Amino acid sequence: MTASHPDIREAVRRLCSRFPGGYWQRLDRERAYPTEFVRALTDEGWLSILIPEEYGGAGLPLSAAAAALEEIHRSGGNGAACHAQMYTMGVVLRHGSDEQKSQWLPKIASGEIRLQAFGVTEPSSGVDTTRITTFARRDGDRYIVRGQKIWTSRAEYSDLMVLLCRTTPRDQAARPSEGMSVLLVDMREAKANGLTIRPIRTMLNHATTELFFDDVEVPTANLIGEEGKGFRYILDGMNAERILIASECIGDGRFFIDRATSYANEREVFGRPIGSNQGVQFPIARAHVQLEAAAGMVERAAGLYDSGQPCGSEANMAKMLASEASWFAADTCLQTHGGFGFAEEYDIERKFRETRLYQTAPIPTNLILSHVATHVLGLPKSF
Ligand SMILES: Cc1cc2nc3c(=O)[nH]c(=O)nc-3n(C[C@H](O)[C@H](O)[C@H](O)COP(=O)(O)OP(=O)(O)OC[C@H]3O[C@@H](n4cnc5c(N)ncnc54)[C@H](O)[C@@H]3O)c2cc1C
Repeated sequence: MTASHPDIREAVRRLCSRFPGGYWQRLDRERAYPTEFVRALTDEGWLSILIPEEYGGAGLPLSAAAAALEEIHRSGGNGAACHAQMYTMGVVLRHGSDEQKSQWLPKIASGEIRLQAFGVTEPSSGVDTTRITTFARRDGDRYIVRGQKIWTSRAEYSDLMVLLCRTTPRDQAARPSEGMSVLLVDMREAKANGLTIRPIRTMLNHATTELFFDDVEVPTANLIGEEGKGFRYILDGMNAERILIASECIGDGRFFIDRATSYANEREVFGRPIGSNQGVQFPIARAHVQLEAAAGMVERAAGLYDSGQPCGSEANMAKMLASEASWFAADTCLQTHGGFGFAEEYDIERKFRETRLYQTAPIPTNLILSHVATHVLGLPKSF
């Protein structure tokens, strides 16, 4: 299969070669943020490739960002520390005012401002987003925000945050999906005025946190679009996020298949390479077949997105197929390596933990199946 954007892939591969396995292992051990890696990506302009040229970005299509993230993951690295810097700005670009765009986008493009935190999930709402309760009460030219978010990733490494909150209680809104608004929160100010950030240690190095808003003031000038319409704005950004995360899964899958193949060719047991046993080679071949099928769906979803066509179902299907294909490849790679797959220095156990996330976040597989069942196939709604 011919890979799209070969020049981008080559350049990203070159950058990643400066950040080998040992770099990621140390960070993983210390649960530390990959500051140097993110700086290198920023300096070479990779994190601003989706921002239009008039605001200082490269103005490239989503498929270019997908190629860059795929290569980061194929190299053994992890783009999750900063992938949101690429796409979270989309809500400002699509729904912000001209003033907000010229105020923020050039600084996001240069890396002076980091906008890579978005707070949607809350502990008590789960995937039923319309049940969020974090509330922004309007008081003159400011909102007073009270509530709690969970799993807000990269909040400690972000200057701005896209916050989805209620501005009308659910039971007073015309519909459950209305009455929610998007605020751009300046974290630097908020941290000094009622915002508490608590890191959550997880099975992978992901810099995720929980946030407590204790009457945090946000200027009304930071409201994105119209009050009460925020849920739709957040939904608009989800297709890009799902396609990009699916690309990371494709990169992970290729990493696992590359590693499994070389190890199966090299490792000799019973006087011959383990890869000459069909019990070892068939799962690797199956992983390859599944990954290529998923990659085809990711490409299709990105193509639709880039040509401005509806792609909600394709983005969902791409994310589901790619996350399952990378997980199967991860398990196969681990099994192929025998005991060595569990050793830190091989990077496989780390990548195994990292790629598992994508069947749960940003949306769990069940919710994708529910979307396909009801929206694509016309089956009755279950919730
Ligand atoms: C490391 C990490 C980083 C994250 N980063 C962010 C972030 O930056 N910003 C953010 O807003 N969120 C983030 N999330 C949150 C993530 O999107 C949610 O965890 C995910 O959407 C699932 O929500 P939940 O954990 O509340 O699960 P729940 O809603 O409690 O669901 C639990 C399980 O039940 C299933 N389930 C629930 N209802 C149904 C149903 N009706 N039918 C079938 N199955 C159902 C779900 O599929 C899931 O498997 C992150 C999560 C993690 C773990």
